Amino acid sequence: MQIKSATLGYPRIGKNREVKKSLEAFWSGKIAAESLLQTVTEVEEANWKTQLDAGIEKIGIGDTRLYDHVLDWAFRFGLIPEPFQQFSGLERYFAMARGKEGIPALEMTKWFDTNYHYLVPEIASEILSADFSDFLQTVQRAQKILGKRAIPIILSPCTLLRLSKLESNIDEAVSKLIPLYINLLTELKNLGVDEVQMHEPALVLGDANSWKKHFQTVYNSLESVELPLHLVTYFDDLGETYPWVIELPVSAISLDFTRGRNLELIKTYGFPEDKRLGLGIIDARNIWQIRPEQVLSVLQEIVDNLHVKSLDIQPSASLQFVPYDAKGEKQLPSALRNVLSFAEQKLQEVVLLARTIIGDNTKTEQEFLESSWSQFEQFSPVNHSIQERRKTLKIDDFQRSLSYGLRLDSQIHLPLFPTTTIGSFPQTSEVRQLRVRYKRGELSQQAYQAAIDVEIAKSIKLQEELGLDVLVHGEFERTDMVEFFGQQLSGFAFTENGWVQSYGSRYVRPPIIYGDVIRTAPMTVREFKVAQSLTEKPIKGMLTGPVTILNWSYTRTDISRQEQAFQIALALRDEVADLEAAGAKVIQVDEPALREGLPLKPQRWSEYLSWAVDSFRLATAVAQPQTQIHTHMCYCEFGDIIKDIERLDADVISIENSRSNNQTLREITSGGYSHQVGNGVYDIHSPVVPTTEQILEQLRTGVANLPVKQIWVNPDCGLKTRRWEEVIPSMKNMVEAAKVLREEV
Ligand code: GLN
Ligand code: ZN
Repeated sequence: MQIKSATLGYPRIGKNREVKKSLEAFWSGKIAAESLLQTVTEVEEANWKTQLDAGIEKIGIGDTRLYDHVLDWAFRFGLIPEPFQQFSGLERYFAMARGKEGIPALEMTKWFDTNYHYLVPEIASEILSADFSDFLQTVQRAQKILGKRAIPIILSPCTLLRLSKLESNIDEAVSKLIPLYINLLTELKNLGVDEVQMHEPALVLGDANSWKKHFQTVYNSLESVELPLHLVTYFDDLGETYPWVIELPVSAISLDFTRGRNLELIKTYGFPEDKRLGLGIIDARNIWQIRPEQVLSVLQEIVDNLHVKSLDIQPSASLQFVPYDAKGEKQLPSALRNVLSFAEQKLQEVVLLARTIIGDNTKTEQEFLESSWSQFEQFSPVNHSIQERRKTLKIDDFQRSLSYGLRLDSQIHLPLFPTTTIGSFPQTSEVRQLRVRYKRGELSQQAYQAAIDVEIAKSIKLQEELGLDVLVHGEFERTDMVEFFGQQLSGFAFTENGWVQSYGSRYVRPPIIYGDVIRTAPMTVREFKVAQSLTEKPIKGMLTGPVTILNWSYTRTDISRQEQAFQIALALRDEVADLEAAGAKVIQVDEPALREGLPLKPQRWSEYLSWAVDSFRLATAVAQPQTQIHTHMCYCEFGDIIKDIERLDADVISIENSRSNNQTLREITSGGYSHQVGNGVYDIHSPVVPTTEQILEQLRTGVANLPVKQIWVNPDCGLKTRRWEEVIPSMKNMVEAAKVLREEV
């Protein structure tokens, strides 16, 4: 059997976030386009060299350029919605990504069950001409550096279509795209490419079986190019599609063996002897180093069930979901650092496993990894108190003492269409600077808190002047909504440079849950009190929910996700009680990541939702009936989980609504949702200030769909990425729109 090491994509942001810095400099006019492209090229080439030096034999290349890989392909294929056709080049590309005066950006949504967001292509009946030149140039550059090791990565037709908004029917779109893909593949073949990775993650979705005909049409047509195609799937198993997918005319198929049941499928149906298997065995979505004994026994079992001639050992997906290098995290205790594995470590693991399977003696390396794990176990022992508390939980702990209808009257009274924001206000460079100086020890805690309080005071004054009804303190002390909480809880670790891309130029550093989670002191009460002392209006206490903290962290693999969610929920429960005791009448517990945690296959949804919703309830049910509990969710669809959203039993939910053109609201209301809804009135990802008219138009959809008593008015999401110059006029227009509407009803 021939065995090679391979990758399916790599972090794309630069080891020192060069791409972000460059994008932002370009947008603000500080650097020219050439300079931006130069940076992106340098980052890309450095990535290739790292993989080459690690000894990877088949290196996936061209996975993205500037902002988002789905946008890259929509752009190259000429899938340009009408409003963007007036622009060209980078101006068009970034208009589609970020919007431009009066033109909203493409919709953005989560990439499968990850925390990466892609831009949703829109396929109109007219497709502009395709242009693959940037991609082909990338391939040529890669060939110079990597030679035959360079394997181009293409987002494949069915996945592209599956993720797009379609004006025409699918058959028509498929037949339009096929010739374009044939051109692309032909050009690649002419460049001397031996194989391409066709990424088709849509094959693991619950509805993939209904796409059988399209997959067959596409791959039967692409076969004519006579370029070996490597069909790449990840994030779950192939499920019911397995039997026909393995018959598609491709030379290789990649499967994810870190999630789902691909091993069972191989055992049941076999795997074709004439195809190569891409064996995704290193988890590309978690940061734990392999435990050689465990992973080798799984690997051996897979190999024993195969009769293939060749095999690639590889990460389960693109490594874009992990940071670059764990060894650089010098601040972490070494016992922890030594069991972490980021992209660079995963490359070594891929090579190690490939060598081991070939028959090389890797005993010393294996023992070294195992001994790191033994040291870690001593460093992070089990906490018995949390396990005791968990065991004694009763049904009542998950249930508010009065039901929604009965507690409603005792809660805060507000005008119709109450206005509020989602929590954060602009994180200006001054604010960020404050936190940096505090962290470096240049500011004492006292001086730091005093400076934060000045920001809080400014924001309260401003919100009062604007006439908002429910105020927020502004979250100036928070770097990130998950990191902030994790930093105060035991069991969490933080990296210095562990950035991963959330969308475009926005990167996050997911915390690492490595041990039992305990709250050691109140986390948000001080800032709440400061804010509330400055105003008669209610301040919303502001927490991040257990499911979001879990879903946006790297989690443990030794206990279940449910156990970890409940531990976090218990910590938050104590915080809710403390906020209430400090006078909070309104407390928001954000759960923007609740939906994205749904398993990709609907059969597995109910199990997840059951504990996910329970953990939110565990965190919030401690609130007195008169305390109004809000939750916030963004950038996701709800239609199919309305009952579960209702079961959260929040009094108010604020949702993103404007970027998806009210889709979210329609889903919520047609599901018969009876609690209050904060109807997001403008897209906060765009620097464009919405007019009162635009906001009114948005709100009228709400009014048409919901009883007025149920409607709140708020932006789509937090405002931390915006500038005050955008926020102030936007808020003014928003409050104005609410006033106009109050007159109308
Ligand atoms: N409260 C958070 C904020 O305003 C919510 C952010 C989010 O939903 N992603 O920033
Ligand atoms: Zn949000």
